[in-house]
Amino acid sequence: MSGTLFVCGTPIGNLGDISRRLEEVLGQVDLVAAEDTRRSSQLLNHLGIRKSLVSYHEHNLRKSGEALLEKLKSGLSVALVSDAGMPGISDPGEVLIQSCIQEGIRVELVAGPVAGIHALILSGLPTERFAFEGFPDRNKKTRRAQFEALAKDERTLIFYEAPHRLEATLKDLLECFGNRRVAVARELTKRYEEFVRGTISEAIRHFEVESPKGEFVIVLAGLDPVEAAAANAALALAETPDEETILLEIRSRVNEGMSRKDAAAEVAGLYKLSKKEVYRLSTLV
Ligand code: SAM
Repeated sequence: MSGTLFVCGTPIGNLGDISRRLEEVLGQVDLVAAEDTRRSSQLLNHLGIRKSLVSYHEHNLRKSGEALLEKLKSGLSVALVSDAGMPGISDPGEVLIQSCIQEGIRVELVAGPVAGIHALILSGLPTERFAFEGFPDRNKKTRRAQFEALAKDERTLIFYEAPHRLEATLKDLLECFGNRRVAVARELTKRYEEFVRGTISEAIRHFEVESPKGEFVIVLAGLDPVEAAAANAALALAETPDEETILLEIRSRVNEGMSRKDAAAEVAGLYKLSKKEVYRLSTLV
């Protein structure tokens, strides 16, 4: 009979978040598959547990994953732990979990914190509907394309970001989404935990003064349909030409030989105005 893969959530900073179940499972498994064996051995030392550790990370996914599957098939039980938080969320755990499910190996979850969810809950932004977007692409062009594809999403959006890319990402967010509300969470559950809540431009100003250090989650408000409709209406109003401009447009077409009726129809189409109204105006030409 095959063993069980225990997907173990570990603290994202505060060791007080270690659950009794995590301690129990780490104590009972045959081996621990860790994203970073040094970090996980600190966790095990803290708990006074001695276990054999196997490295399982982004760069040895396939080879280490195959070896782990063999061990699970032979009946051994394995605890999967990532650097911090839940394996499978923006880390290589996802692949091993999928393989186990495909192979019919039992998978159990030992619940723990997820930085993105933690930040969402304390963001002050709507939590009813949200989308987790992980790390934005490092390439500016691709990143902006990703953001533009999300610009009309009404759900609250969650991103992970590295400190040295935070400023550039916030600037791209401002350009692609407008000056929406945002909450930037730093060093969750740690000594210097901080939330910067406000508009994107306020967050940019904050990090221009306080250079970003530590780990970050960005929680961005989704598109507010009421605000968006009001903004579109204001834009349409600003774009509606005055009578003089309409008359100028019609006159220049008539001078080029167009009939008054055709000129009015073309100008109405150009500015998305009523044909009848523009034709009425054209009698002043
Ligand atoms: N599996 C993890 C989880 O459950 O959240 C995420 C792993 S991902 C490789 C690491 C990223 O998560 C960091 O770059 C940061 O964006 C976010 N993160 C992790 N711990 C955090 C913390 N204590 N405070 C803020 N963000 C954190």
